[in-house]
Amino acid sequence: MHKVHKIALDPNDRQATALARAAGCARFAYNWALARWNELYEAHKADPSQPKPNQLALRRELNAIKRERFPWMLDVTKCAPQEAVINLGKAFANFFAGRAKRPVFKKRGIHDSFKCSAGTFKVFENRIQLPVIGTLRMREPLRHPDAKLVSVTVSRTADRWFASIAVEVPNDAPASPPDGGTIGVDAGTREFVLSNGERHEVPRALRKAQRQLRRAQKALSRRKRGSRNREKARRRVARIHARAANVRADWLHKLSDRLTKTFSIVGVETLNVRGMVKNRHLSKSIMDAAFAEFRRQCDYKAAWRGGRIVVAGTFFPSSKICSACGAKTKRLPLGRRSWVCESCGTRHDRDLNAAINLEQLAVSSTVPACGEFFASGVSGSPDTPCGLDEAGTKHRCA
Ligand SMILES: [Zn+2]
Repeated sequence: MHKVHKIALDPNDRQATALARAAGCARFAYNWALARWNELYEAHKADPSQPKPNQLALRRELNAIKRERFPWMLDVTKCAPQEAVINLGKAFANFFAGRAKRPVFKKRGIHDSFKCSAGTFKVFENRIQLPVIGTLRMREPLRHPDAKLVSVTVSRTADRWFASIAVEVPNDAPASPPDGGTIGVDAGTREFVLSNGERHEVPRALRKAQRQLRRAQKALSRRKRGSRNREKARRRVARIHARAANVRADWLHKLSDRLTKTFSIVGVETLNVRGMVKNRHLSKSIMDAAFAEFRRQCDYKAAWRGGRIVVAGTFFPSSKICSACGAKTKRLPLGRRSWVCESCGTRHDRDLNAAINLEQLAVSSTVPACGEFFASGVSGSPDTPCGLDEAGTKHRCA
């Protein structure tokens, strides 16, 4: 299996310029290939005897013309434009398979990156040697020093450069999942509450970053377009964003690590996509991103460790069900932290009750023929090929 270790780089000024140039070259090649792809596709539509576009043909075409038309491309590693066109091919494959939107043109300064394939780069202890650019210092050594190198993607976030090094490691999934049983997680904006009563507060640094971000965004919106001060304000926003993302990822990695190492099944709520789009508060959007990131981490880590994630359906009312008797309360205002069940009189902490409901849901979940998880009244992940039947009680494959 492939694992990726992302490490911050310390380029000197000359190297930073070279990295930016390679990323710019990759972006140009990607945009050139995308434009060609669209042209070829139109030509094929008009006259089906014309070939359909594909990345291999586009790479050959680019190689044939670059010396003549884009001579500056020869100043950077040849991997940068090549891998960019391969990536475009993957982006179209994802689009055709319905996994992603149609590829769009890349903009300068947004997701700047380039990729080098195996054999073109080397890693020694705290250093990485990239073609043409030279040897750069890394902030930490590669976590899998003896593993076979697969590729490296060098990318920029705010003003910092990172190397995401992919390596081939043996599949070390254990024969049996962790034996801690099932846990439910209620992910809130202030804290994540587990069904065993544990509470994990959102880091103070993250909440502080949310406030700073709000201020920096306001300052940015007051600056004149195209001015030097606007550029400075834009960088400040990008830096705070990047820092918030780092703090968030670190906290979530520690939590998702512990959960997937301890419990065999983790029950979580589905991401409320509609609510996310509607909500325009930045601080809230940071936590929505945190939840999406948490789900992503739990998903792949559970797969490593033989456990699994059960996701409640969009309409599963985790907060409103009484975890003691199963009755559903009619009204539960968002601000109410605790409530008393009308049927059995149990007093509930809102978040803990939700977490217990998610745990119970996960316990009752079963695995149908297609391998997708579901529980009664609950669908698996919304993009499953199978899903529930019209009555909503059993999987179509069952
Ligand atoms: Zn009750």
